[in-house]
Amino acid sequence: MQVYLYSEPGAKTLDVGQLAGYVESLLSILVEARGAFVHRYREGQRDALDTLALHFAQAKVRNPQKEGNKVTPLPGEVDYEKRRLADPQSRTFGLLYDGYQLMTALGHGIPREERGLKHVHIVFTNQLFGTWDEADRRYHARVSLYGFPSLISTTGIVEAPAKPRQYYFLKQQYTALGLADAPAVALEPQFRHSVIGHEDERLTEVMKGYVMQAIMYHVSGGPFCPDRHCRLFNAHWQEEVIRAQLGGDYEFCPRHREQMEAMRLGRVP
Ligand SMILES: [Zn+2]
Repeated sequence: MQVYLYSEPGAKTLDVGQLAGYVESLLSILVEARGAFVHRYREGQRDALDTLALHFAQAKVRNPQKEGNKVTPLPGEVDYEKRRLADPQSRTFGLLYDGYQLMTALGHGIPREERGLKHVHIVFTNQLFGTWDEADRRYHARVSLYGFPSLISTTGIVEAPAKPRQYYFLKQQYTALGLADAPAVALEPQFRHSVIGHEDERLTEVMKGYVMQAIMYHVSGGPFCPDRHCRLFNAHWQEEVIRAQLGGDYEFCPRHREQMEAMRLGRVP
């Protein structure tokens, strides 16, 4: 198995080299830390930027309460995406993309020789993406989406898992006072023990578990674990993210430790 990790230059506290070393020591497999996926993709294919900009514009969720995304984007929207994709440092806020459409668009950029079950591509992005939830008929922002390639959002880890109720209560009060920046400036440090903030210095440590979920998805089809202390736990609350990735009783539950040890020794999991 060969794993490729693609960095997100917009996420200053994310170190994919460190993540690669972590996975290599855990599983004894080849892990290559690469630059941003979009920039490799652009170099590999003619007109790649135009195609990708069109796909991103198409994947933009226009109404979170409406399923499907079959709108033809305006030329201005495509140009906007093109400018954004051409600038590695760009950051956008407030846009949500359909995760499966992004996955399909990026999947086209993987060269033929790196396709197939032996190759695991894990793309970090600072874009926020979501998936349609049939149960409550709306899009939900997600931290990660596993497939070919797997996507992990460095904005999603801040925005997608729910924060403690007290956080939302205080945020509402600050907003009512006209202090729009207060959540990031005052609340994130105050709630450090229960939320992951923007440019959080713990980001790389937290992402170890998400990278391992992506790998387990490829190995066994099941990326998640019901054990709240295991890094493979599917967290829906920020407090659950922190317990599983930073403060659990152990990194992985006994069952997953055993499975990873078998992988490390080259046995079939
Ligand atoms: Zn587990």
